[in-house]
Amino acid sequence: MNARVLLLFSGGLDSLLAARLLKETGSEVEAIHFITPFTGSMDKLEGEGYLGEWGIPVRRVKVSFAEFRPLLETPPHGFGRALNACIDCKILFMCKAKQILLAEGFDAIASGEVLGERPMSQNRQSLDIIEREAGLQGLLLRPLSAQLLPETEVEKKELVDRSKLMAIEGRGRKPQLALAERWGITDFATPAGGCLLTEPQYSNKLGDLLDRPGEATDETVGLLKTGRHFRYPGGPKLIVGRNQEENERLLAFAEDIGDVLWNMLRVEVRGPGSPIGLVFAGTSDHEDERSVLRVLRVLRWAAGIVARYSDARAEQQVEVTWWGEEGTEQVVTVKPATDEELEAWRL
Ligand code: SF4
Repeated sequence: MNARVLLLFSGGLDSLLAARLLKETGSEVEAIHFITPFTGSMDKLEGEGYLGEWGIPVRRVKVSFAEFRPLLETPPHGFGRALNACIDCKILFMCKAKQILLAEGFDAIASGEVLGERPMSQNRQSLDIIEREAGLQGLLLRPLSAQLLPETEVEKKELVDRSKLMAIEGRGRKPQLALAERWGITDFATPAGGCLLTEPQYSNKLGDLLDRPGEATDETVGLLKTGRHFRYPGGPKLIVGRNQEENERLLAFAEDIGDVLWNMLRVEVRGPGSPIGLVFAGTSDHEDERSVLRVLRVLRWAAGIVARYSDARAEQQVEVTWWGEEGTEQVVTVKPATDEELEAWRL
């Protein structure tokens, strides 16, 4: 009898090798790929083709911003270099995988984690914490390091032959690259899978949004990858498109946003080439924010930045058009912002 194993799959080499190792043991494997606002993809992943060749189906599970948010605010096991709370993130993924294990009768969860490969989330203590706090004692198999870790239930029951698993440890990648060569694996994602939470600049923007009551939503978090972001000191935020595609995304956002954000201004220089600028504030502190947005200097601030990125940036004075909640069009004349000013406000 063989084990039915649910494998967490990022698209990276380690999870590919774990998949192949499990197949070598004769296990029936299904891969699960988690998609959060910060990592994962609905599109076919690098390396996913190998799973198809090996007869391993992939299912995708979305994790919403609301589910992820507590990990960004008070992660019990702390952050890495940026807003990546990797231990708690893995516990969350494992908890979700466990629900599927229980509902669908899998024998074990597996991952491509390697003992000692990442200082924060893959040392022995962290691996134990993840297993214990996800309630997966004895059910979490790490095929690449299995021989260095306690036997799991599927090994004890001889559903998975422990002798076919590996004893890889540490940050060097030689053993993994040798296995990749043996199995002809050349196409795979980079380590950490391009998780945005590991990027300090992205984390700064996200942290700013989280600090503003009512501003962080699935939609506004989704916009963090779009445009240049500026914060009026203690007040609203401005996003300025960097190209046509981003301008269109901002316009679509402004049309779709409905009641998610209570107050928004669109800013643009008519005539010369101009980015779209969106100024918005969150849903709470309603009256405070409304009064702030009413203050002409906020509007002039946003208009000055948009003028700076327009083709009229060399002019002393630029006419900037803005549209408020009712869609009425108005014009304000401003001096384009200086580079020093931009840097002071940039997120
Ligand atoms: S790198 Fe990102 S997706 Fe991976 S465990 Fe850390 S926070 Fe989660």
